Amino acid sequence: MIDYKVSIGCNISKVLIVNRDTKTTKIGGIIMDKSVEEFMVKVKEKNQGEKEFHQAVQEVVESLMPYIQKNPKYKKAKILERMVEPERVILFRVPWLDDKGEIQINRGYRIEMNSAIGPYKGGLRFHPSVNLSILKFLAFEQVFKNSLTTLPMGGGKGGSDFDPKGKTDNEVMKFCQSFMTELQRYIGPDTDVPAGDIGVGGREIGFLFGQYRKIRNEFTGVLTGKGLNWGGSLVRPEATGYGATYFAQEMLKIKGESFKGKTCIVSGSGNVAQYTVEKINQLGGKVVTLSDSSGTIYDSSGIDEKKLAYVMELKNVQRGRIKDYAEKYKCEYEAGKTPWHFPCDCAFPSATQNEIGKQDAKMLVDNGCILVAEGANMPTAPEGIEVFLENKILYGPGKAANAGGVATSGLEMSQNSARISWSREEVDKKLQWIMSQIHNSCVKYGKEGDFVNYVKGANIAGFVKVADAMIDQGLI
Ligand code: NAP
Repeated sequence: MIDYKVSIGCNISKVLIVNRDTKTTKIGGIIMDKSVEEFMVKVKEKNQGEKEFHQAVQEVVESLMPYIQKNPKYKKAKILERMVEPERVILFRVPWLDDKGEIQINRGYRIEMNSAIGPYKGGLRFHPSVNLSILKFLAFEQVFKNSLTTLPMGGGKGGSDFDPKGKTDNEVMKFCQSFMTELQRYIGPDTDVPAGDIGVGGREIGFLFGQYRKIRNEFTGVLTGKGLNWGGSLVRPEATGYGATYFAQEMLKIKGESFKGKTCIVSGSGNVAQYTVEKINQLGGKVVTLSDSSGTIYDSSGIDEKKLAYVMELKNVQRGRIKDYAEKYKCEYEAGKTPWHFPCDCAFPSATQNEIGKQDAKMLVDNGCILVAEGANMPTAPEGIEVFLENKILYGPGKAANAGGVATSGLEMSQNSARISWSREEVDKKLQWIMSQIHNSCVKYGKEGDFVNYVKGANIAGFVKVADAMIDQGLI
């Protein structure tokens, strides 16, 4: 029975249809728990126009609300309401001189979201699309992800609307130095430890670390993803892609399957995509696609070790386009397209947020895809997630599947604090163990009969540790 209709929010034009009997609401055709909708109305009113942040919060709140209702201590302490409010948001001007001697001005950000279980930890993204909404969504996700890793790390994220594409090394250095001149006031090895993300790789981390060291006159583990000869950890560059593949391997295991003979599609061609391809190859699978923001290549014979070495040189050194791969290896190239229409057993979205929509998800399922492991953060839009869950495929959300990167950053922090370096085998073994623990936590909280709802599992498991710490530490 429909009890009442209400119009909500100044920037929310939709009408809610509320049913008191079922405690559900219907918005835009999607049925929702009433308490979720009421919570989201407040989040949207307070954070107007931040659509990526709304999306990330809604996905988490939908999983958590039934759990919180069963555990009223979290409701009484208003944990969710506190978790959607960043502990601190830092926004700053980044002026720098380009090679022509002209002044350029970018905007810098650091979102210090939650430090209940450890120092803020999370990457820096340099991309023209960067804004407050994108960084708040990433910082919010990071809190849950870092909690899942088993390591003591809070959540943060930062970056700038600076675009490293087409800039000289000198310009990138000038920008990084100006960015760090301001950021250094707010970070430190026990306070906030940034790392890389889109547009921030080894080169940028080097320039940022150099400037921090000069200004603060200290050599500490203030950034992760550092070079091996100046405090970096073995396996950190590989960790996100390897970790996503280890997580997928765990998911396959519960179905009695492995990567042997599986055809995989990967999007992106950056750090995460490259090492996902490497690990899938090592585990006996075959990867047939890669992409960048200009298009997708399809190589039916598989991107083997030699071809991957070419991709690494093309992308990391020449900073070229994936189209060149198609020309070199005479395979298909589809300009402006994503890879989701190619048939596969497993898919690894590893480029950016919202790259899989509803139709993409349907195509994947219809073409026989049994597993999706997200190397990227929030690459699947909510309608796409619904398709995966309805069809009960193995769907590993980013906050679980790509946590290997930050977990290995955590291992880099431990090595820096102890002033030791672990061997490649040691770090890789720890990474594998962490990914299997994350998988176990998802199963513990996400099992629904024979099916594992990894979205629910990751959200609840990530939440409990942070929420309990917040309660223990009082109202701060
Ligand atoms: P990266 O090395 O900069 O590579 C990003 C790749 O994605 C590039 O191929 C890029 O193509 C493509 N891409 C970026 N924006 C795009 C867009 N709007 N549309 C289509 N393609 C786009 O970055 P990364 O470190 O691999 O990160 C990829 C994803 O993984 C991100 O979602 C990131 O947050 C997530 N992640 C990364 C780590 C890590 O340790 N690096 C850890 C956890 C999660 P172009 O070259 O054309 O820009």
